[in-house]
Amino acid sequence: MKKTPRVLVVEDDNQQARFIQLILTKYTPPFDVQLANDGPVAVELASKEKYDVITLDYNLPSMTGLQVLEQLKKLDIQAPIIMVTGQGDEKIAVQALRNGALDYITKSKEQLNLLPRVLLRAIRENNLAKQLEQSRKRYFDLFHNAVIAIFVVDAETLEIQQMNQSAESLLGISVEEGRQKAFFNLVSPDQQAVIESFFKNIKDSGRATIENLHLLHRDKRVVPTDVSGNLVKSGEQEFVELFVTDIRDKLKMHRQLQLSQQRLLSLFNGITDMICVLDSNYKLLMGNKRYLEFTGNTGKSLMRKQCYETLFARTSPCENCPAFETYKTGESHFIEVYHENRIYQIWTFPMRDLEGRPDFIVEYTKDVTEHKEMEQQLIKAEKLASVGLLSSGIAHELRNPLNIIETARYAIEAELGHSNPEVDKRLKLIKSSIQRSSAIIDNLLQFSRHSKFAKEKVDVAALIKSTMSLLYKEITQQKIQPLLALGDTPRAYINVDSLKQVFLNIIHNAVQAMPNGGELRVRTYTSEDKKSVIVEFKDNGVGIAEEHLQHLFTPFFTTKGPTSGTGLGLYLSYTLVKREGGDIQVRSAVGEGATFTVILPAVAE
Ligand code: ADP
Ligand code: MG
Repeated sequence: MKKTPRVLVVEDDNQQARFIQLILTKYTPPFDVQLANDGPVAVELASKEKYDVITLDYNLPSMTGLQVLEQLKKLDIQAPIIMVTGQGDEKIAVQALRNGALDYITKSKEQLNLLPRVLLRAIRENNLAKQLEQSRKRYFDLFHNAVIAIFVVDAETLEIQQMNQSAESLLGISVEEGRQKAFFNLVSPDQQAVIESFFKNIKDSGRATIENLHLLHRDKRVVPTDVSGNLVKSGEQEFVELFVTDIRDKLKMHRQLQLSQQRLLSLFNGITDMICVLDSNYKLLMGNKRYLEFTGNTGKSLMRKQCYETLFARTSPCENCPAFETYKTGESHFIEVYHENRIYQIWTFPMRDLEGRPDFIVEYTKDVTEHKEMEQQLIKAEKLASVGLLSSGIAHELRNPLNIIETARYAIEAELGHSNPEVDKRLKLIKSSIQRSSAIIDNLLQFSRHSKFAKEKVDVAALIKSTMSLLYKEITQQKIQPLLALGDTPRAYINVDSLKQVFLNIIHNAVQAMPNGGELRVRTYTSEDKKSVIVEFKDNGVGIAEEHLQHLFTPFFTTKGPTSGTGLGLYLSYTLVKREGGDIQVRSAVGEGATFTVILPAVAE
């Protein structure tokens, strides 16, 4: 909507004033005309009212048009002023233009007919000038108050033309000081090549950015910045506008982030159990050092695989997959997995997104095989020790009554034995039972007896040979071939009587396991860490059934008839060797013979 233009016509000649008013009010669009017949009235009106344009006659009763113009300018009247002069008064017109009039016309009829158009143009021009001034001011404010530091440099010389307040405070220099420098003077010496190619890019392509540019503060400190530059043309001249962001805080934050990441990572990798992170498709996202080592992966190769593939070489998820459960329920889960003779415990925990839903799964896997074995051995050792103690106590108590029984049997035999074959038979049965009981008691008593003997350095090879010779009769009778490979091993530090007992039991068992002859190989060697002497007894006898293997060391476990076995040999041997810090291991299968391995503490060289 265009509003009616308001014009103040300053004219003392009545007729002239009417004429001008007529022209202006008849014009389309018509003007709203206000008349003033002298300078002071005009000044008063102009200061009170708002006009879009003012025409000013030169000849006025109490003051000249130039004087009115001067006063209007002093009052900062914004409306454009058109000077109206008599013909031939061009000098006055020039003076008026100098003093701030926008235009002038002469008082000829033709010129006055043009007045509406002149006025309209004046209004338009004035509005444009105002807008220009406003946007100039806006730009200026924007430039000066911008939070970002701005430099304007000459594109040719790179001399600084202008810089804003943020730029001043960023580098601690004033605009005046800045104007005496070229921009590269503000850049750290080691980045001169960088800044040079930066400006070249701007000139070639109109814009460029540069990260981590080191500017120099007045106090020689380095200020790291990110800079972007644009080429701007102003008439013939080219400038570069540089927008400079201080990135000290950003760098600091970045460094802190890196540091905490680093710490987390070393924590992650320092954990000696396996940890990995999976997504909902069991795809591995990361694994700690132990996980990578165990699965033989690198961080990169891991990413393409599934957890069940890397850990257990499976092609589908494990049954009762705890990761799946954790996804479903959002709660941690646990399973125990048996894989290739080892036991793994797996815990899964949800890694939640910002809404609290499980986003990823952390899987914690621990190989508990040794732990479990140790636990089991501990239970076994304790059980054996208490059984041993108990039974040797009982054995001791049984010895006297057994003696009494034997004495009584002897008396009965002397009295009636040989006269009655029936009695004789029963007495023989009593005798063999007493002997068997006596053997059991002897065996059991060894348990307590051996505990009293001191340790010494034992030549294992010699001991094996002397023990073999004790069983020489059985060995040759059963056509058993002894094959000895007694290496040059260090001596064992152990109680010699206990060890003799152990060897005797094992060799005796081997002999009994080869009723139709065979080979008994005995081999000694030193463990890799040189801390143990290892003795291996390998026979090719009947072998041991798998279900018997776990009971071998249990007291009174025997597969032999009541006359040939007590079931105490291996139990005693195991207990004695364990007590000396060693171990006994068995490998066997039915029909394939058995191998007993005795591990003994070596004497340190
Ligand atoms: P015993 O010899 O009195 O039966 P042991 O404790 O010495 O008691 O042995 C327990 C069992 O272990 C034996 O009954 C036998 O079944 C088995 N065994 C031990 N050594 C061997 C071997 N070398 N070959 C086959 N079986 C064996
Ligand atoms: Mg035996």
